[in-house]
Amino acid sequence: MDLELSAEQAAVRRLAADFVDREVVPHAATWDRRESVDPDIVGKLGELGFLGLTIGEDDGGSGGDHLSYCLVLEELGRGDSAVRGIVSVSLGLVAKSVAAHGTPAQKEQWLPRLCSGAALGCFALTEPDSGSDAAALTTRAVRDGADWLITGAKMFITNGTTADVALVFARTGGPGHRGISAFLVPTDAPGLTRREIHGKLGLRGQATGELRFDGVRVPDSARLGEEGAGFRLALATLAKGRMSVAAGCVGIAQGCLDAAVGYAGQRTQFGKPIAGHQLVQQLLAAIAVDTDAARLLVWRVADLIDRGEPFATEVSMAKLFASEAAVRAANNAVQVFGGYGYIDEYPVGKYLRDARVATLYEGTSQIQQLLIGRALTGVNAF
Ligand code: FAD
Repeated sequence: MDLELSAEQAAVRRLAADFVDREVVPHAATWDRRESVDPDIVGKLGELGFLGLTIGEDDGGSGGDHLSYCLVLEELGRGDSAVRGIVSVSLGLVAKSVAAHGTPAQKEQWLPRLCSGAALGCFALTEPDSGSDAAALTTRAVRDGADWLITGAKMFITNGTTADVALVFARTGGPGHRGISAFLVPTDAPGLTRREIHGKLGLRGQATGELRFDGVRVPDSARLGEEGAGFRLALATLAKGRMSVAAGCVGIAQGCLDAAVGYAGQRTQFGKPIAGHQLVQQLLAAIAVDTDAARLLVWRVADLIDRGEPFATEVSMAKLFASEAAVRAANNAVQVFGGYGYIDEYPVGKYLRDARVATLYEGTSQIQQLLIGRALTGVNAF
């Protein structure tokens, strides 16, 4: 693996870093306090090509590689995980699924709009009673002539109340994962109601919603992929999605490192900058090692994907390590800041709250451990 970035990759990283420093960092604390990012941010992300980065140019995307995608997500994660999540879900989970499994008509209908930011997507798998065991979902789609009627509820859906299209997983057959199909449902469809979930520990600027489907009618042409193949589609999509969560965590850890090193050089206690106290340096070193180790694991996954190699176990390792590392890094950064780390005048407390969810969604840390354990032993311990 070549750790040297190409000229294009370095340029994309600079573009993202400048954007984040200008358009995200100055507002992140305000968005967090008012529980909503500026809605204009979606159009700006689209203009820069970030919402279609890994989608082919023929489908309205920028045709970039996965390492470039990770670099952008690192920068967005450094700025505000709420913004990073908008891209991870709309591009990484929805547009990528349409690009991989969509009919020409579905691609034409959704991809140019998703890539430009004219439309936003959400990925509706989790339900109130099925999270880690997603294959136990109970939302149903039943045939009604040439259409399907969808009934059920989805929980904790990122972009849930802001998205224009929901990629919905519903049961069209018997129990188990083979009875699940995927549908592209416009969110203005009659019978679909949405409620924003407030009071989150972190990612407060991001719209997280609960979706209710009460006989929502969609034509068969809204079905994405084969009937009964929806769960396999979800798993394949989530595997790449984990890379984007992990990349966002690298950005959080980097943000913690930058903030903590800067603060340690300025804050004086016992007659010298706290950077000169050995135990503070120990905290800074721990953040730096976590950041670099997480970055290397994430870049390896991007490299494997770009070379068309298998990456399932490596992405679980990267997601597990990077999410836990980001929490550790943010916790250590709060320690470096002392009492000032505990108030939102400085970014480290928000980094800690935002990092925490990454150990929960797209497969909790325990689920990643079970996936890695199964790959090591051949034994399914779920
Ligand atoms: P549970 O599955 O009930 O897990 C509870 C605990 O039990 C965890 O510690 C878990 O690790 C443990 N556990 C469960 N099974 C096992 C096992 N076999 N062995 C060991 N331990 C186990 N979902 C979507 O579909 N789309 C989204 O866009 C989305 N965005 C989200 C945004 C936010 C802010 C949050 C909080 C969640 C989001 N989710 C989304 C849902 C997320 O993916 C789930 O919360 C996650 O999968 C865990 O499911 P759960 O919350 O039901 O927890």
